[in-house]
Amino acid sequence: MVIRPREKDRIIHSIARFLSGLKPKASNRYYFELFKYCSEIKKIKVPNDNTCFFCGKKFSKKSTLVLHISKKHEKEIYDLCLGKYET
Ligand SMILES: [Zn+2]
Repeated sequence: MVIRPREKDRIIHSIARFLSGLKPKASNRYYFELFKYCSEIKKIKVPNDNTCFFCGKKFSKKSTLVLHISKKHEKEIYDLCLGKYET
């Protein structure tokens, strides 16, 4: 999967929402569809207790978790998209 710079933020945010157990926003559905076909991301079992998929940190609100993932784990999200992330 190739990530174009102008799509970067929306893709990162879409994946952060996905990893937080949220559905994509309507305006970002296109970006969600893009990465949905990435086999590495499809394999992920998203934690359903507001826990960060990457570092295991727990959050009280999903919105805080989305922010945390999109800010702190941008590189990991890229690696996931490119199939380079190792658990
Ligand atoms: Zn984390």
